[in-house]
Amino acid sequence: CELRSGDLVRIGDVICKYLCGRNVEAAYHEEIYRMTISDGLTTVANVRALNEFLDREVARSRRYGRGLALLMLDIDHFKAVNDELGHLSGDYVLRELAQLCNRRVRREELFARYGGEEFVLVLPETTLEGAVTYAEALRQLVENHEFAFEDNRISVTISIGVATFQADMMSPTDLIRAADERLYEAKRSGRNRVAA
Ligand code: GH3
Ligand code: MG
Ligand code: MG
Repeated sequence: CELRSGDLVRIGDVICKYLCGRNVEAAYHEEIYRMTISDGLTTVANVRALNEFLDREVARSRRYGRGLALLMLDIDHFKAVNDELGHLSGDYVLRELAQLCNRRVRREELFARYGGEEFVLVLPETTLEGAVTYAEALRQLVENHEFAFEDNRISVTISIGVATFQADMMSPTDLIRAADERLYEAKRSGRNRVAA
């Protein structure tokens, strides 16, 4: 078939990206930059992008006393998807879920893949109450979304831990840790829920 700009061509172990147009050089550098800040599977922001964003937002929050919230999302019983339907189905769920959530995210917010089946959403200028409302909306969005791969319908739910930046926190890691602790609470109390 005819190649279009951005298409990937695989020759043995080598994957080439076809770029055409007036400024191939600029497109190339843009592509390289995009690859350094996005997750290969889901195309949402990666941990590196998350850390940069969070450093900036924590500094801003501390300096100007602005609200800053962080959501830690984790897919419930995701191992079972891989085990029962295969790794490709698992990958599909990760991509679909990431895109679903990312579409809802505003420009000033950041949705990132934090690890295997864990995602983080950073919400600047957001109170704990606002963040919990947002988290609940995301939880419902995922629960009500139809995931289907190779004729299999896959039921997917997520648990979410919510935390806000506090004056006594020393670093962005403290905020992530606080959200992670809430996530653990959401899991412990039955999954498919939000804990703050
Ligand atoms: P819980 O409700 O407690 O979160 O259970 P869980 O099964 O979701 O959690 P667990 O940590 O036991 O399993 C996570 C699984 O996610 C195991 C791992 O194989 C899978 N996983 C991580 N990264 C990927 C990936 O990129 N693709 C696929 N298909 N699976 C992945
Ligand atoms: Mg996990
Ligand atoms: Mg999980």
